[in-house]
Amino acid sequence: MKRIDLRSDTVTHPSAAMKEAMCQAELGDDVWGDDPTAHAFQEEVADTLRKEASLFFPTATMANLTAILCHCQRGEEYIAADQAHCYRWEAGGAAVLGSVQPQTIDIETDGTLDLDKVASKIKPDDPHHAITRLLCIENTHYGKILPLGFMAEARRFCDRYGLKLHMDGARVFNAAVGLGVDVSTVVQHMDSVSFCLSKGLGCPMGALLVGKRELIQRAIRWRKMLGGGMRQTGMMAAAGQYALKNNVKRLADDHYNAERLAAGIQALNDPRLQLDFQATNMVFAKLAEELDGGLQEFAAGRGVTLPPGSDQRWVTHIDVHDSDIDTVLEVIREGLAANIEARPSTSKSLY
Ligand SMILES: *Cc1c(COP(=O)(O)O)cnc(C)c1O
Repeated sequence: MKRIDLRSDTVTHPSAAMKEAMCQAELGDDVWGDDPTAHAFQEEVADTLRKEASLFFPTATMANLTAILCHCQRGEEYIAADQAHCYRWEAGGAAVLGSVQPQTIDIETDGTLDLDKVASKIKPDDPHHAITRLLCIENTHYGKILPLGFMAEARRFCDRYGLKLHMDGARVFNAAVGLGVDVSTVVQHMDSVSFCLSKGLGCPMGALLVGKRELIQRAIRWRKMLGGGMRQTGMMAAAGQYALKNNVKRLADDHYNAERLAAGIQALNDPRLQLDFQATNMVFAKLAEELDGGLQEFAAGRGVTLPPGSDQRWVTHIDVHDSDIDTVLEVIREGLAANIEARPSTSKSLY
């Protein structure tokens, strides 16, 4: 049975064509600076985002941590939303490994930050305080695209307060495609950007950190220290090259499929599965406690994998096709009609 896995866009498998590109890649030892494919890909990424340089990482978690370590010294601080991945979902790495303190701030419903609130958190120059150095924003955040105007404002704000500006752009290509602009426009005001290859772009692994040449030079040392100096990286870089060429425009299909899922949930008109919102490739819905666990089990038996918990997040991706949307909606309709027993599952984040 074909499985339709809606838990995340991280569950994708490389396509045959992507694997072929990986197999064909010219390789070398990247720690020695010898991998031509990794090298070419990093240049291509920098050009694509119109920044000076980029660096390949195994994960965006390591890329974000490295960005924070590059921008902030020990005893300094970064500001991020309390739901930001680089604060909440990265095991406190900046504090543990960098002695960099996070200052969190409530996020606005549209995924932006209220810059007046941010201003109120910036520490005065006083030996009692950590030194505020960096503002981190996330795009997309829970699928939501940050408005271009907000990012321009954030840039002016950071310049005024002498802060650097980092974008955790794990899904920045979803933002670009959703806005219908070039990705370089989305990141134009950033000092640094991280993004994932392993999500909507459909690669087996990988992320990049992008920014000024001088920052990337320092990032190479941090990456080495964090255990991220890799050898024949070209195999993964080749997957990335393939993805940038073939898997960006098609993100619009994922957004369209997410819209169809959201519309389908609404059409069910069942109080036990309530649509919260849909943005880019994500659909958020609330599942009644009495169905939690049971509905997932019912769906799993019919080839549809849903996340645990009553806070449902369904994510569309390259391995979810148009016709799968119909299948999912049909399975859910049947599941809601069936006499399902409650089987509470532990709510676990699947970011
Ligand atoms: C997934 C994600 C990350 C981390 O990516 P990994 O490559 O899984 O470490 C960082 N930020 C955001 C917003 C994410 O969604």
